[in-house]
Amino acid sequence: MMQVCGYAAQSVKSPLTYFSFERREPGDYDVTVDIHYCGICHSDIHKVNDEWGGSKYPMVPGHEITGIVSQIGAKVTQYKVGDRVAVGNFVDSCRKCDPCQRGLEQYCEKGATWTYDSVERAAEADGREAEIPTYGGYSNKIVVDENYVYSIPDNLPLDSAAPLLCAGITLYSPLMHWNSGPGKKVAIMGLGGLGHIGVKLAHKLGAEVTVLSHSPKKEEEAKKLGADNFFVTSDRDTFKKLRRYFDLIINTVSVELDLDRYIKLLALDGTMVIVGIPEKKFQVGATPLTSARRSIAGSDIGGLKETKEMLDFCAKNNISCDIELIPIQNVNQAYQRVLNNDVRYRFVIDLINSLKCKD
Ligand code: NAP
Ligand code: ZN
Ligand code: ZN
Repeated sequence: MMQVCGYAAQSVKSPLTYFSFERREPGDYDVTVDIHYCGICHSDIHKVNDEWGGSKYPMVPGHEITGIVSQIGAKVTQYKVGDRVAVGNFVDSCRKCDPCQRGLEQYCEKGATWTYDSVERAAEADGREAEIPTYGGYSNKIVVDENYVYSIPDNLPLDSAAPLLCAGITLYSPLMHWNSGPGKKVAIMGLGGLGHIGVKLAHKLGAEVTVLSHSPKKEEEAKKLGADNFFVTSDRDTFKKLRRYFDLIINTVSVELDLDRYIKLLALDGTMVIVGIPEKKFQVGATPLTSARRSIAGSDIGGLKETKEMLDFCAKNNISCDIELIPIQNVNQAYQRVLNNDVRYRFVIDLINSLKCKD
């Protein structure tokens, strides 16, 4: 086993503290990554607080990872020591089911191996045992099969690119699937980590972009990010003015809202895609859907192929995230600030400069 260190929650809702732990010994097909940066996704907070059920502890969160390859296995062909790389939400999948064959590993029928709070799959070829817990990116090193590692294009900074691995792909995938582009009216609900990169991507794809926010103070910033329009959702008029307006609404909000009001903002045949995953269930009425053949859908991150495509798109268009870099020692304050809606727009942990292993 490989000795590493990071920050972990030892039990539900506990603050994150220094944690020394073991990762699996790198195998022939593995890449060892020295982690430089890791974004703080709101999902990390939901998981630490066990808001979705089933969380296991100790938990080292983090699935927006960038760093440098420090070691490669004997049979690794795609990477060499010194390469700039990234790891996202999953580190393995069954590789055989229909979604895996189609490059949609996040929807693996056997369940993807998540970067943290999951267990490793057995890999006989690699002599790897199953049931070893996975631990995420708030740590100094990670060991991942080379097929589940991404290259970071040279012009993308490692720190502001880190959140592309979850926030970026989570917005890119539905924008592409529902054909955002010129002539399409797209709304982004919630201007947070996911929402802000969604605005940049949708704008670059050529759609007309509207932000629906409960924070009036974000208007100016939204426009700078590329939004054409900004509406505050506390204003009742917003829901009158925008009735039947949008082709696509992407809902990134981390709490449950009265969705019917928003669904009525969709035009005929419009779709609301849920990507935010609140703790509590939504209630949806039938007539807001039936009255204009509207749809409600969901979407989860993106697969290996589409994540690579997204990174290339961002590199080509010079898109990365607006971040606030913090030392790992400030992670608990950062969690509180995310919950207080006090981040513009993603915290990224500077692990390479702030995390020192004690032994
Ligand atoms: P975030 O940075 O906290 O952003 C969430 C945004 O929601 C806030 O910036 C805020 O935007 C809005 N919001 C928060 N509280 C609200 C309230 N009480 N009423 C109305 N709006 C509120 O979180 P994030 O990292 O972007 O993640 C957002 C959600 O997506 C989380 O639930 C996360 O778990 C989930 N997620 C899902 C996937 C997936 O693959 N499906 C991937 C990553 C994350 P305004 O201030 O503009 O209103
Ligand atoms: Zn995430
Ligand atoms: Zn599969």
